[in-house]
Amino acid sequence: MKKYYNIAMVIGLLIFLPFNAYSSEEKWTSGPVRGHEDITRFAVLAANKFIGHDFYPVVAYGDSGLISKNFLIQGNYQTDFPSATLCRRYHIDLKDCNLSRWQNNPELQIIHSLRNLPNGQKQEVPTLLNTLQGIRQIIIQNTAYALQFHQQGKENLFFFWIGHVVHTIQDSFSPAHVKRNPNTLGIIDMCIYGKKVDQVCYHHLLDTGDYIWVLKWGCLNGRSFACLKDEAVDAVKASAEYLETVYRFIQNNLQDDFDYQDNDWEKNETKKRNLNILFEDYLNRYFKNIL
Ligand SMILES: [Zn+2]
Repeated sequence: MKKYYNIAMVIGLLIFLPFNAYSSEEKWTSGPVRGHEDITRFAVLAANKFIGHDFYPVVAYGDSGLISKNFLIQGNYQTDFPSATLCRRYHIDLKDCNLSRWQNNPELQIIHSLRNLPNGQKQEVPTLLNTLQGIRQIIIQNTAYALQFHQQGKENLFFFWIGHVVHTIQDSFSPAHVKRNPNTLGIIDMCIYGKKVDQVCYHHLLDTGDYIWVLKWGCLNGRSFACLKDEAVDAVKASAEYLETVYRFIQNNLQDDFDYQDNDWEKNETKKRNLNILFEDYLNRYFKNIL
């Protein structure tokens, strides 16, 4: 049996070798095998163009989360490959702050736009509606968390946490994570990782739905916008609009006299309400149920 398995593997490798030369570099994940960096690069270009100046740090061509000095990219990358900063935010003990614990954490699937896992024997898998609500909530909460750093003049941390939110948004356009109606972008299903469940789409360990580039002549190297898959283009648009919305929020709320230094943004109901109003339209566009 083992021998056949090995032969099958060799054949598999041979078949995928021609694609692998480029595709292993271009997955819908961040870092050495990446996708998020390029989607963010295009989104920052579009958002800065809309804003009229380079408000967001421009992402260099070929930048990678592993080595990037760009805080947007760092926050994005560390969503997949956790650091102490990420673990602290989600109350994870530093001794448990490793890749395996992070990626299999039942309650943190949602930051990748996946359904959280049932925690403990008796719990049910969260419904699609619950998961959607959870995503909308975590986008708002983490945006508020990021904005607090902007108000404190800690720009690096502000960009870092905005990059983290952008990761959640981008993952929601990967067909390996979320099934959308390609025309309306309405969400049909949100997938689950690490546990197969009836009637719920399953995210494989290595999922080809995570590739962001089209396989066609002229797109075999380089990272041009024209070579992005349709869903990756949608991810660029949604990321850019998110960045623009954050900027608009800052413009609208910068001049008020609220003392941000001593207050936790998330506990300030007025601020939270303002944030919800501005983002409602955005969330309704990109995080709506198919119904
Ligand atoms: Zn992710």
